[in-house]
Amino acid sequence: MLAVENLEVVYDDVLLVLKGVSLKVPDGAVVALLGANGAGKTTTLRAVTGLLGLHRGEITKGRVELDGRRIDQLDAPEIVRAGIGQVMEGRRVFAELSVEENLRVGGYAKAKQIPEGLDRVYGLFPLLAERRRQVAGYLSGGEQQMLAIGRALMTSPRYLILDEPSLGLAPLVVAQIRDLLVEINRQGTAVLLVEQNAAMALRIAQHAFVLEVGRVSVSGPAGELAQTQ
Ligand code: ATP
Repeated sequence: MLAVENLEVVYDDVLLVLKGVSLKVPDGAVVALLGANGAGKTTTLRAVTGLLGLHRGEITKGRVELDGRRIDQLDAPEIVRAGIGQVMEGRRVFAELSVEENLRVGGYAKAKQIPEGLDRVYGLFPLLAERRRQVAGYLSGGEQQMLAIGRALMTSPRYLILDEPSLGLAPLVVAQIRDLLVEINRQGTAVLLVEQNAAMALRIAQHAFVLEVGRVSVSGPAGELAQTQ
């Protein structure tokens, strides 16, 4: 179980953007985190993945726990090693590196597992296998998103955290990403999915949380929330 409890986050020592956020991702589940621009979704993910410090943010109250153990004092690579893979905003593949080099960088935190990581990712994304020697910067937006997801899978995370994977992609590509997330989950990885595309997220999630200005305003089974959309 990945649990965020009563989390408060401040940027630049003064700007309070999370005001007591709690959410849970059970093992093997798909959970959606929804909300308008600026609600605090990305900030929540940064807190879970150890990336707040990079953005001058700080947890001032609350905790993040993995199986009952606090992880909010670990640094980002330690959190990856603890079993949490991340696909943060904007894809950010290394444009000048090849597809395979990008994947190898993703596997760095668990270097011994790189060969099996490559097998798994190429199994899930045959297109990446075909293009393994191609420079990542020449891939389409959807292919780069797949590479970013593949890179996060290289350490065989128990939890995969994604920040708006459908952003800016054509509907057909969004559907492909959705199907891939379903397959990744079927293989045993739990998913925490931040989306503004609520319809897409609610189709694959079992449970959803809606953030509004730094607080969870609604949470419940995804099917029920979908009906109120
Ligand atoms: P979006 O979909 O636009 O990314 P979001 O729900 O992910 O929205 P956050 O990006 O977490 O929201 O932003 C929450 C609030 O924190 C916003 O008011 C934003 O301006 C502010 N914020 C985000 N990052 C920083 C930062 N590094 N320094 C100061 N304020 C920030």
